[in-house]
Amino acid sequence: MVRFGREKMFPELNHTWGTLVSGLPDRNAPEQKKAVREIRINPVVPAESVLVATARGMRPKKEEPPAPHDMRPFVDACPFCRGNEAQTPAPIAQVPAHGDWSLRIVENLYPVLGADRSTPHFAFGLQQTIEGYGRHEVIIDHSSHGIRIHEMTEEHLALLLSTYRTRMNELYHSDPRLKYVLVFKNFGPAAGASIGHTHSQIIAMPVVPANVQAEVRNSLAFFQAGQRCIFCSLIDEALTFEATLYDRGSGEIRRKINVGQFVIERTSRFVAMKPFASRYEWEVHILPLAHAADFLDSSPEDLADLGRILRRTMERLNAVLGGVQYNYFFHSLPHGVEQGESTRAFHWHLEICPRTSIPTGFELGSGLFVNTICPEDAAERLRSVVLPSV
Ligand SMILES: [Zn+2]
Ligand SMILES: [Zn+2]
Ligand SMILES: [Zn+2]
Repeated sequence: MVRFGREKMFPELNHTWGTLVSGLPDRNAPEQKKAVREIRINPVVPAESVLVATARGMRPKKEEPPAPHDMRPFVDACPFCRGNEAQTPAPIAQVPAHGDWSLRIVENLYPVLGADRSTPHFAFGLQQTIEGYGRHEVIIDHSSHGIRIHEMTEEHLALLLSTYRTRMNELYHSDPRLKYVLVFKNFGPAAGASIGHTHSQIIAMPVVPANVQAEVRNSLAFFQAGQRCIFCSLIDEALTFEATLYDRGSGEIRRKINVGQFVIERTSRFVAMKPFASRYEWEVHILPLAHAADFLDSSPEDLADLGRILRRTMERLNAVLGGVQYNYFFHSLPHGVEQGESTRAFHWHLEICPRTSIPTGFELGSGLFVNTICPEDAAERLRSVVLPSV
């Protein structure tokens, strides 16, 4: 795998971009899009790089066919539908507490981590284990079976987001052995959702996942080098940065790069962006504009605005993909470990990963994701969906 040291990436970022993005199409001439074949380095986690390969013949992937979506509001046999509450374990929480519920939290019947103490297999030599202790819960997002995120009201989305926050907080405080609380959603069979009723999941785990650790560690290194949050820097660049590359000999303009082309939507408090090194064709990240390391610090106003941008982003994805199957998950500063300067270095975000293709042996074997649509082209298509103004 190609590796670039931190010193290669910064501070000469525009030089790096100019080197790597050799096939970047000119934003002003979208009809002249050239085939792109380049390895893009993830600025936050360089090891998670992506091969952007857009020419048809180079696509080593099989596309995931869109699955028909069950739009029914009520399904008789669904344990998550209103009226079938007896088919789930007793709720951990229900909102509102009495009467018809809008949201419910229940234990996952098939937890990947459990609260019971299981003695791990004894460790021998290099074969070490960690006790599979934790919690695995399901949030039934809405009483309507087939409703999609972009069809929910903004008020409901704010309620869902504040339920995520409340439950994350409770889990962190329930047991010091819990090092990370991951909130995520699988939607559609291609994204691994086994129950059709809209739902999210919370897994509280005894370790900080390696990808979160890598983001925290690398953002801290970037912060210590320049007293800047790398995510804030990426947002600033996306919103303001335009680079002009000159020919050294003649002094003529060789190429202009408009980084604003990665922005899909911005609201008063959030931005939705295509990552420069997107692993998935339609991957979008949502970040707070003001620096914030911990999702749990979000105010009700933040969550209302997050609900708005989430709804609009999902509506764009749905319009472009004609029914989107996706995973989304929050990356927020872990609580179960020393935070230190990471409160200034790390920046929480929501990663939305639509599933439009199936990873292949090349991807599993190389660890290099293949993206067959140039991220700036994907951003342009998502931006061009006409929605009512904010
Ligand atoms: Zn249902
Ligand atoms: Zn920041
Ligand atoms: Zn992340």
